[in-house]
Amino acid sequence: MPKERHGKPRKYGKGSRYCKRCGQYGALIQKYDLMLCRQCFREVAVKLGFKKYE
Ligand SMILES: [Zn+2]
Repeated sequence: MPKERHGKPRKYGKGSRYCKRCGQYGALIQKYDLMLCRQCFREVAVKLGFKKYE
């Protein structure tokens, strides 16, 4: 029976909410299922055409 290391990698659940663009934890924009922080969202939003997001 192989030993199991401490600290299992978690792909989902608590702690998995971070910006998938820059990896920053915090306030994320999940409105469009983008999972981006505000800063990244603004940059991406411009490309997507959401220029009026503030
Ligand atoms: Zn970001």
